Amino acid sequence: MINITLPDGSVREYEKGTSSYQIALSISEGLARNVLAAEVNGEVWDAARPIETDSTVKLLTWNDTQGKSTFWHSSAHLMAEALEALYPGTKFGIGPAIETGFYYDVDFGDRDFSSDDFKKIEDKIMELAKTKSEFVRKPVSKADAEAYFNEKGDEYKLDLIKDLPDGSITFYTQGKFTDLCRGPHIPNTGFVKAVKLMNVAGAYWRGDESRKQLTRIYGVTFPKQSELTDYLKMIEEAKKRDHRKLGKELELFAFSEKVGMGLPLWLPKGTALREKLVRFLQKAQEKAGYEQVITPHIAHKNLYITSGHYDKYGADSFQPIKTPQEGEEFFLKPMNCPHHCEIYKTKPRSYKDLPVRFAEFGTVYRYEQSGELHGLTRVRGFTQDDAHLFCRPDQVKEEFKKVIDLVLYVFKSLGFDDYIAQVSLRDPENTIKYIGSDENWRLAETAIIEAAAEKGLPTVVEFGEAAFYGPKLDFMVKDALGRKWQLGTIQVDYNLPERFELEYTGSDNQKHRPVMIHRAPFGSLERFVAVLIEHCAGNFPLWLSPEQFIVLPISEKYEDYAKKVLESLNNSDIRGLIDLRDEKIGRKIRDAEVKKIPYMLIIGEKEMAEGVVSLRKHGQGDLGSMTAEQFKSQLITEITV
Ligand SMILES: [Zn+2]
Ligand SMILES: [Zn+2]
Repeated sequence: MINITLPDGSVREYEKGTSSYQIALSISEGLARNVLAAEVNGEVWDAARPIETDSTVKLLTWNDTQGKSTFWHSSAHLMAEALEALYPGTKFGIGPAIETGFYYDVDFGDRDFSSDDFKKIEDKIMELAKTKSEFVRKPVSKADAEAYFNEKGDEYKLDLIKDLPDGSITFYTQGKFTDLCRGPHIPNTGFVKAVKLMNVAGAYWRGDESRKQLTRIYGVTFPKQSELTDYLKMIEEAKKRDHRKLGKELELFAFSEKVGMGLPLWLPKGTALREKLVRFLQKAQEKAGYEQVITPHIAHKNLYITSGHYDKYGADSFQPIKTPQEGEEFFLKPMNCPHHCEIYKTKPRSYKDLPVRFAEFGTVYRYEQSGELHGLTRVRGFTQDDAHLFCRPDQVKEEFKKVIDLVLYVFKSLGFDDYIAQVSLRDPENTIKYIGSDENWRLAETAIIEAAAEKGLPTVVEFGEAAFYGPKLDFMVKDALGRKWQLGTIQVDYNLPERFELEYTGSDNQKHRPVMIHRAPFGSLERFVAVLIEHCAGNFPLWLSPEQFIVLPISEKYEDYAKKVLESLNNSDIRGLIDLRDEKIGRKIRDAEVKKIPYMLIIGEKEMAEGVVSLRKHGQGDLGSMTAEQFKSQLITEITV
């Protein structure tokens, strides 16, 4: 008999050679039907693989990330089987699962292939899925593996086998298709109930441009037809919400090749929105004891030699700017931290002065390859809502709690209700690669974990994910379409205080190193605005809307009254416009709806006579009439909520 420990800590006894599937079956039939694979002692195994020793077992279903990736990798095999059946002689490269779905790199020889062929392949995949063929695992010797693919004439598999040690090779077979694969796989093809091929692209064998270009076919599968339908709907919706598209339509930002790739131009409306975000955070930071600082966009090479950035990133950054006379070398600022360290050093600090918190909306420049650039999410110049806190080791926890409060306040005010935080700790097996004393790491890691717990933050803990200079807490939000984005971050740093020889005088009159905390609740304004646009589909919270209302006179006759209404409403918190075009009122309303302006104030004969406005809300329609004063106080109440 063997002992199996389950995730809830319970230990059950089974016969030696029991499979995860049988374990599931002993718990419930429903569970057994849904088991795709199992994590056995930390390694993902086929559900059918016999377990020979005492083990810790976690059954994996569609709800587990690893369950999904096993499902999708198995679907790649299924697609390969379909391709082989439809196009005999096809050769196969690699076919991994990706974040959503899978791909397979294949060589069709001289055959032309395009997305027109997708339907035929999808039908074949579903036909093969219905046969419920088991994925059968078989260890093979290197010689047998080579003989098999020699016979088949697949040079790609032979190339892969070449690098594998004898004794480690396994084949998987389902139906008539056999693949070189270390697994794991789902029990049988019948689990796949829906498939959609998404895309076809070229991909060099092993990513090497000097080798043959293969055809990469992307697909996605699901265990239910309805999940595929929902997924395709989500993709359609995501296209509509694409921040690059909405950014143009709402006139928020633009790019110009003349200005340079990856360097966003903020248009007046985008700037209005961005400025509101800046003021919003500045206000909150002021309350939390931050001090604003400003540092230049370039800095002397020596600064980055001290910080270590030059050694680490110098070769891959924008190249230095040289002064014509002195020959000094300056770099575009890639981060604000070294500058803030120099600000810290401008005067002696005592333990009573700490923490000090320097905040800056600091614009930084980082080189990204042109092919990597994407709208506002991957750019070459961006503004961080940066701040650096310098504190005593015993203050780390308190500071973390305050930063968490700030981040959550930002999320709440902007309508992100679904978030988790990832605590990244050092790898306890390999502490040598991290800078800083064990004692400080212990203090900081405990402080982060306790701070997150005390704030009731949903968290996941990842060992080995810390930066070499300190542990961190990263915030991931889920947007309205369920997509995950990494936004804010809080990081402890033992490295820069050391490199810049930062000090404070302790109560013992001795010199001590402060701990540095980097934090950015938005991450960067560019990335945050992109995520916000896609999250709210351009319908920004009222307080953030670049324009909160528009006055629409029905004809020229009412212009003077309409202008007076506008004048009486505009102030520093409220911003509106007026549409004086010679257009029908229906057209003016439609245009305002397209621009997603929250309120429309319509003015005609009746409104002018009664001294009121007729109010319409974006996406909702008529709200009746009221005086301009009433509207103003309603708007102010709504904005301050
Ligand atoms: Zn495989
Ligand atoms: Zn920093």
